[in-house]
Parts: sequence; C-alpha cells; structure tokens
Amino acid sequence: MIKKVLIANRGEIALRVMRCCRDLGISTVAVYSTADRDLKHVRLADEAVCIGPPPAQQSYLNVPALIAAAEITNSDAIHPGYGFLSENADFAERVESSGFVFIGPTAQLIRVMGDKVAAIRAMREVGVPCVPGSDGPLGNNDATNLKVAEQIGYPIIVKASGGGGGRGMRVVERAEDLVESIKLTKAEAKAAFNNDVVYMEKFLGTPRHIEIQVLADTHGNAIHLGERDCSMQRRHQKVVEEAPAPGITEEQRARIGKLCVDACHRLSYRGAGTFEFLYQDGEFYFIEMNTRVQVEHPVTEMVTGVDIIRQQIMVASGEKLGYTQDQIQLRGHAFECRINAEDPKSFLPSPGTITQYHAPGGLGVRVDTHIYNGYRVPPNYDSMIGKLIVMGNDRDRAIARMRGALSEIVIDGIKTNIPLQRDIFDDDGFQAGGANIHYLEKMLGL
Ligand code: ADP
Repeated sequence: MIKKVLIANRGEIALRVMRCCRDLGISTVAVYSTADRDLKHVRLADEAVCIGPPPAQQSYLNVPALIAAAEITNSDAIHPGYGFLSENADFAERVESSGFVFIGPTAQLIRVMGDKVAAIRAMREVGVPCVPGSDGPLGNNDATNLKVAEQIGYPIIVKASGGGGGRGMRVVERAEDLVESIKLTKAEAKAAFNNDVVYMEKFLGTPRHIEIQVLADTHGNAIHLGERDCSMQRRHQKVVEEAPAPGITEEQRARIGKLCVDACHRLSYRGAGTFEFLYQDGEFYFIEMNTRVQVEHPVTEMVTGVDIIRQQIMVASGEKLGYTQDQIQLRGHAFECRINAEDPKSFLPSPGTITQYHAPGGLGVRVDTHIYNGYRVPPNYDSMIGKLIVMGNDRDRAIARMRGALSEIVIDGIKTNIPLQRDIFDDDGFQAGGANIHYLEKMLGL
C-alpha cells in the first residue's frame, strides 16, 4: 500500500493530487523551485523539498533531484501530474528502478505512445480507427512520397513522430509543395525534438477534437468514462473543454468507448489515459494517446462522479478499479475554462503579482487553482493559473452557470484571458454546440 506520495509537479495539479492523497490518508511531499517557495501546495504538503532554481530544466525536469527528494523523504510513490516529466519514459523507468512506484503506465507503454508513428501502428493493430495516412515514417525517396500523398489525396498534413504541444506539423495543399514541406518539417523536428522522423496524414478540413477517458487496472479490468469535446482551441492549445460532446449519441459513445477499452486490454494498459480523436462526418480518427492525467479531467469527473486521480493512485497500489462499466452513468453537462495569465488580445504572458482574487462559487461550481491574494505568478512556467469548472443539469444550464461564474470571478494585478472566456460563452455559435477546431480562431478573426 502507498503511504507517502511525492508530487513531481507544481501549481493547480500539485494541489489537486495533494487533496486526493489527503482524502485517502496518504502523506504528501511537495517539491518546488526557488521561484515557487510561496506556492500553496508547498504550504499544504506534509513535507516539502526544494529541488533547484527557477528554470524547469534545473528543477521540475531535474530527474536526479526528484529521485533524491523521494529518497530523503522515504516516499513510496511519485505522481508526475501533467506536463514536465509525466510522459517521459526514461523518468518512469528511473522512478521504478530506484524502488518507487510510478503513478502511471509502464515506461514501455509511455515510450510507444510518445512516438506517434509507433502509437498509430499499435492502434491500427488493435482495431482503433486512424486518419488515412502513410502508415509509417516517410523515407527519402521523393517519388514514393509523392505517390503516397496522391493516394491519400490533398490536402495532407506532414507531422513529426516525436512532436507535441501542437508543434511539428505542416499542411500541404499541392503536390508542388510536398518535397520542400517534408524537408522543412524534418529539419524543424530534428531541432525541436531531436527526432527527424515524419509521417503523412490526410488533412481533415473541419474536424472536432473529441477524446475518450479510460481507466485500467493490473487485474485485467478497463473502463471508459465517456468523451470530452476540446474543439475550442487556439494554435492547437485547448481553451474550453466540455463533457459530454454535443450531438454524440449513446450508441456512438458506446462503440468508440468499447474500441478504446479493447485497446487497453490488448496493450495491457494501466492507470488513466486518453485516446484523442478528430471527429468529422460521423467518424472518429485516432490522432494520439496521452498516458497521463489531463488538464481537462475535471469535466469528466463532474459528469461521472469518478475521482480520476484517486483511481490512478488505487491502481498504482495494485488495487482493482472501483467501478465496472455499467456503473458509469453520465449525468448533466460540464464545462472547463482554462484561466491563463496572458493578454486576452495578444496572448502574451502576463506574469506578476495578483493584487485581488475573488473566487466564484455556488452549486455546481469548482475552482482548481493555486492562486491567492498577493500570489506572484512567476515568468518561468506555463501561463495557466487555474481552471474554472461548472456543471448543470443540461448544456444550456451549464452555459448559464459558467456565464455567472465568469462574471463573479475577479483576478486583478495581472492580465488574464477571462474577457476572452466571457466572449466565448456569450457567442451564439459556441452556444449552439458542436463547433469545429477552427471555430475559435475564426471568431477571433485570426
Ligand atoms: P500534438 O501532440 O502536438 O498535440 P496532435 O497529433 O494531437 O499533436 O494534433 C494537434 C492538433 O493538430 C489537433 O488537435 C488538430 O487541431 C490538428 N491536427 C492534427 N492532425 C490533423 C489532421 N490529420 N487533420 C487536421 N488537423 C489535424
């Protein structure tokens, strides 16, 4: 049984994991960089260890420092949160070889899913539908590549196998541009991810981003918790998420959910995971799998009542999942707004001191954040400072509740994207539901 967890992360997710550990009677160890001394999770943890200076490379990505922190505090397990080292297979391996439990899937599975070509191949093998594409890495033969693109049909998208965070992708409209585009994407991928493997996919014109949350244990049980719609994106970054996805029927959910659960069985998956799909004209196309808890997991928690972090910890302790598939019932509708410290128009980061913070509240309102009055947002990390999550009995009531919550929330002293979130929730097209991944950028006139 896990008695003490080191949380290898910061901010709202560190706090989220810590609260869950407290519920379970598990002691917690926070780690922090010198920029984060005053963070809430540092104060609330049972123990806290400074792991280095502000740059993430020297602190939250510093594997030896994290392992040493786990050793000196006698921790049993490490929860990686999301971002940082959460999808780093070498880290997962180091954690386990040092005698700690890694709260997540095996290093081998993280490695396969982190390589998009390998992930797509694994999904094809287990029967998950993928975007029509090159079925493997592109070679150096221009004539062959041109033929593959022609077979797929333009426009196509060249993608880096090691890509992430919406980087390492290039859309190609015409055969004349293909060879040059492959060359450029390869060079960029080499520079950004130290891996120049690229592949080709059909470029879908108006897809929605819909993803399936799964949970699996080490006793051969796997379930899905339905889907989330994360189509409101800017530069491939999610801005608003919701569950369930508008217009997805019970039958569609059951069918795609079962495919994902079958894939978990065949991959011997363990822990929480997300299968990401593009959805267009009634069809799902797999794009990637995330082998960690996601930023947007709360919308699924709101409509299923399942504490996803708790299940992660239980599974890592060797326990069985707390639910069977038929116990999962979706109730109501939930939204999440990501609150970022950034200019709502230019999107430039806006670090600084929060002079006033007032949280919204009321029935069905949840705020996952580490900020407080006087908190200084450091310039060193991601600009997300919290998440506002609401639920209602149906989508319209959830929208009304989010509009209310967005009108109540006050964060002064820095710029935030709250004005943008208000505009989104006031927008007719968004309110109608089912917008595609280009909708937000069009709405912004980009
Ligand atoms: P990352 O790991 O960088 O997030 P993904 O493969 O998940 O990369 O793709 C990120 C986003 O890029 C998707 O949400 C979608 O907006 C767009 N995208 C990726 N593949 C395609 C495609 N075949 N057609 C159209 N858009 C795509």
